[in-house]
Amino acid sequence: MTQPDIRDFTRQELAGTLISLGEKGSRVDKVFNFLYRKGAESFDVMAGVQEGLKTRLAALYSLAPAPAIEKRVSAIDKTTKLLFTFPDGAKAESVVLFNKKTISACISSQSGCACGCTFCATGGLGFKRDLRPHEILAQFAACRREAGRTLDSVLFMGMGEPFLNWANVKKSVLILSDNKGYNFPQTRITVSTVGVVPVIRELAESRLEIRLAISLITADEKQRAELTPMAKRYSLREIIGAARYYTDRTKKMVFLEYIVFDGLNDSPQDARKLLALVKDVPCKVNLIMYNPAGGAAFTPGRFEKGKEFQNIMVEAGIRTHMRREKGTDIAAACGQLAAGPEAS
Ligand code: SF4
Repeated sequence: MTQPDIRDFTRQELAGTLISLGEKGSRVDKVFNFLYRKGAESFDVMAGVQEGLKTRLAALYSLAPAPAIEKRVSAIDKTTKLLFTFPDGAKAESVVLFNKKTISACISSQSGCACGCTFCATGGLGFKRDLRPHEILAQFAACRREAGRTLDSVLFMGMGEPFLNWANVKKSVLILSDNKGYNFPQTRITVSTVGVVPVIRELAESRLEIRLAISLITADEKQRAELTPMAKRYSLREIIGAARYYTDRTKKMVFLEYIVFDGLNDSPQDARKLLALVKDVPCKVNLIMYNPAGGAAFTPGRFEKGKEFQNIMVEAGIRTHMRREKGTDIAAACGQLAAGPEAS
């Protein structure tokens, strides 16, 4: 049986293992420091960690080799896409977004995606497998290297539905924010879901400080069912109910994402339908112009109609932002990640 990767465990879990082995739990801090501050790729390089402890850890855990990484850089806006191939051949993509003053990393939680949204290139790939915490953390580390400095925010908006791999995503958040790990604030991490209601409720009850984004996609139930098979599992009414529960419990607002398709959901009536749905939710709405992906038969929303839509929302008192998409020339924009050169 293959040993689990040591980077798939939180510091508390590893400390528990050490205690069960008769070691002092506090010794795990040094190990964590080697794993995340120094990027150790073997137990041998952990100078100062007792030899006996290293041998015991090596008998229990592995350290998987680093994934192969290919890189593409947008000629338009410097957006950088990283394509990871893990040792078993599974692929995932991350995107480094260079904004005016900030740098964000958009990372993947799964290789492929089971949700099958009809407008999304990842959905067209189908599901390959869940990513483990160390594979999620490898993306973070590579994006940070690419940024050349500390990242300002991390978005779980790459390939996959994070709430269908919640156990691994949650562990990666705990390790990212651990002050002996990457020490990256949870408040700068956003997890985006297409509306997995039970996990939205679980997040509301947890102590995690991460931000929540929900991709409503559209405000019409029938239309939503044509855009995402997930609509059959959770209705818009249930999703908005869970969003309300989250905002009530956490006192945080929720980000609601609406994808604008030309002629499909971009009229003033559509804006009023969205208003009626979200008016009682403390939220910020992000309007995302659809990005062509995987040959899907949709047309991107037009800027002027998007503006008109935005104005209706803003006049009704809902904070609404029209997101400027980046990296469209390298298939790095929202919904375009397809884990391969064919996407570019
Ligand atoms: S939009 Fe998100 S949830 Fe839907 S198929 Fe694409 S990656 Fe999966």
